[in-house]
Amino acid sequence: MSRTSIVAGNWKMNLDRAGSIALAKAVAAGRAQAGGVDVVLCPPSIYLSAVGDALEISAGVSPAGVGLGGQNMWDQPSGAFTGEISASMLVDMGCRYVILGHSERRTLLAETDELIASKVRAALAAELTPIVCVGEQLAEREADRTHEVVSRQVRGSLAGLTADDLAKVVIAYEPVWAIGTGKVATPEQAQDVHALIRSLLAELASPGIADGIRIQYGGSVKPGNAADLAAQPDIDGALVGGASLEADGFLAIAAAFR
Ligand code: PEP
Repeated sequence: MSRTSIVAGNWKMNLDRAGSIALAKAVAAGRAQAGGVDVVLCPPSIYLSAVGDALEISAGVSPAGVGLGGQNMWDQPSGAFTGEISASMLVDMGCRYVILGHSERRTLLAETDELIASKVRAALAAELTPIVCVGEQLAEREADRTHEVVSRQVRGSLAGLTADDLAKVVIAYEPVWAIGTGKVATPEQAQDVHALIRSLLAELASPGIADGIRIQYGGSVKPGNAADLAAQPDIDGALVGGASLEADGFLAIAAAFR
């Protein structure tokens, strides 16, 4: 099956309002060079409104074809959850996507697979596409535990999903040792884990459904290494942190996945 690649920019806690608007407009202006690839921007939640306006998002769609995503959400629909935002709030702001289970949240905020799975179910119920992040720490890779750790995270973070649900998720494989370090996984290392993830998805859903699920790679993706990653059979796009903060580089990465 041919999968439409998806390249998402995770701006993390960077930029200000004016910088967010300028970056969104620059990505929209150059977006045509990555035709055929789904392009998504995930600004800090406080700037979703400004970025949505800059992209002229209406009913989740922007004229230039740039999607909007949250970096996180809570798993409950509303209530006494100070500081949190819900799936329906993201939808209300024009989002079609939400990053869930990013390693920074797993590590710094102690998010568990159970909580992430609950968020994934809530996102799908609100018709958001969850981008579910998994990936091993450096010590786990060095101890040859990558497959064990990633398998546990995939099974745990997708617990309780039906095959139809699974067909709607995007997975991001992000080896933690490659995030923000400038140390990218080799295409072979990434492909090995992507193939593992696809085989797990085949088991959890079916081989046919697994064949249609997009699996992004994330971890120091740059314009200079994107093409080699894109050439791998099971790498269907990228989740980009640092390099998504500059429009030309981000678009060059997206274009590599055409
Ligand atoms: C990320 O945070 O999802 C990420 C991949 O960051 P970077 O591209 O900066 O490594």
